[in-house]
Amino acid sequence: MKPDLFEAPDYYLLDDLLDEEHKLVRDATRSWVKRAVSPIIEEYAQKAEFPEEILAGLAEIGAFGPYIPEQYGGAGLDQISYGLIMQEIERGDSGVRSTASVQSSLVMYPIFAYGNEAQREKYLPKLASGEWMGCFGLTEPDHGSNPAGMVTNFKDAGDHYLLNGAKLWISNAPFADIAIVWAKNEEGRIHGLIVERGMEGFSTPETHNKWSLRASATGELIFDNVKVPKDNLLEGKSGLGAPLGCLDSARYGIAWGAIGAAMDCYDTALRYAKERVQFGKPIAGTQLQQKKLAEMITEITKAQLLAFRLGQLRNEGRATTAQISMAKRNNVEMALNIAREARQVLGGMGITGEYSIMRHMMNLESVITYEGTHDIHLLITGADITGISAFK
Ligand SMILES: Cc1cc2nc3c(=O)[nH]c(=O)nc-3n(C[C@H](O)[C@H](O)[C@H](O)COP(=O)(O)OP(=O)(O)OC[C@H]3O[C@@H](n4cnc5c(N)ncnc54)[C@H](O)[C@@H]3O)c2cc1C
Repeated sequence: MKPDLFEAPDYYLLDDLLDEEHKLVRDATRSWVKRAVSPIIEEYAQKAEFPEEILAGLAEIGAFGPYIPEQYGGAGLDQISYGLIMQEIERGDSGVRSTASVQSSLVMYPIFAYGNEAQREKYLPKLASGEWMGCFGLTEPDHGSNPAGMVTNFKDAGDHYLLNGAKLWISNAPFADIAIVWAKNEEGRIHGLIVERGMEGFSTPETHNKWSLRASATGELIFDNVKVPKDNLLEGKSGLGAPLGCLDSARYGIAWGAIGAAMDCYDTALRYAKERVQFGKPIAGTQLQQKKLAEMITEITKAQLLAFRLGQLRNEGRATTAQISMAKRNNVEMALNIAREARQVLGGMGITGEYSIMRHMMNLESVITYEGTHDIHLLITGADITGISAFK
C-alpha cells in the first residue's frame, strides 16, 4: 500500500468551531492512525483478519469509552471529541472504527447507563483498557430490522437464569470476552444480560467470506441452556428502548466516522488527479474530474456541519433518535457515493489495494446496512415528520 499522505480537508474552516481539547484529541487520533493503522490495514483486510495488535493503541488514544467518566477508566470527553475520534479511526478503516464503536457505545454504554455500581466497577475499567473486549447481540437470524420479534429468551431457574437462542452478524464476537445480549424474559419483556466467554453452552463461531469489513471479526452468538448468574442482568432499563438507546450512541459515532472514510477517498482522488497526466495534462484539469471532486468536497462539508450540530445537541442532551437517524443515513450515503466516484477518478489503479478507496467502498456497504438499514432510517424520519409509522 502507498504511504499515508492524508491531509484533512476543512473547506468551511470548521476547525474554528472546535475547542483546544477537540483539536488535541483529533490530532492525536489522526497521527496514531497514520502510525499504527495505515501501514498494516490493507494486509489484514486482504487476509480477512482483525488486527488484534492495535487494541492497546486504541485503548491508549481513548477510543474505548471516550465519553465514559474517568472514574470508570473512560476518557471523560464530550460528544464532539467522541465524534472526532470515530472520524479519524474510520479514515483508517471502518472495521477498526466498528470495533471501537461496539466497545464504547454498545458494551460500555449499556453497562454504564443500565448497570449497577458493582457491574460498572467490575467491567468498565477492563473494557476501557482493552484488557477485555465486548460485543453486542441484538440481531437474530430471523429478526434484523425488526428486533422486537426476537426469540432469544431467558427463564428464571432459581439462583441463575437459563439463556437460549442465537444472534447473527455480531461484530467482535469471535474474540470478545463478554457479550451484551438482548433477550426476552418469561413475560416477553426485553432485557440486557452480560454473558461471559467460558460460560457453558455459549459459543461464538466466526462468519467467513465477507467482501466487506474484512478487517473486522464478525460472528454468531449461540446460547444452549447457558447459566447466567442473576448478578449479570442489566436492571436499569428494559424493553426495546434499552438496546435502541445504545444504538443512538453508536449511530451518532457512525455519522462522524463516515466523514472520515469520505475524506480519505476525496484526499486520495484529489492527489491522484493532480499527478495523473493524460492527453498531455493532469486529469484534475478536466471538467469531468473537477465536477466529481467539487461535488465531493461540497458533500463532505455539508456532512461535517450536520455532525457538528448533532454533537452540540448531544452535548446538551437534546438530540432525538430521528435526528441521529438523519445524520447516520445522510453521511453514510454521502461517503459511499464519494468512494464510488473516487474509485473512478483513479481508473484501473482504483481497484487495487495500493490505495484505500476500494476497501472503504466495500466497508461502507456494511455501514449503510448495520445499525439500522438505509431504508429503516428513512422510515424513522418519515414517521417523525408525519406522525405515522410506515414500518408495518
Ligand atoms: C458486518 C456487519 C456487522 C454487524 N454487527 C452487528 C452487531 O455487532 N450487533 C448486532 O446486533 N447486529 C449487527 N449487525 C446486523 C445489522 O444491524 C443488520 O444486518 C441490520 O439491522 C439489517 O438486518 P438484516 O440484515 O436482517 O436485514 P433485514 O431486516 O432482513 O432487511 C432486508 C432489507 O429489507 C428492508 N426492510 C426491512 N424492513 C422493512 C420495512 N418495514 N420497510 C421497508 N423495507 C424494509 C431493509 O431495509 C433491507 O434493505 C451487523 C451486520 C453486518 C453486515
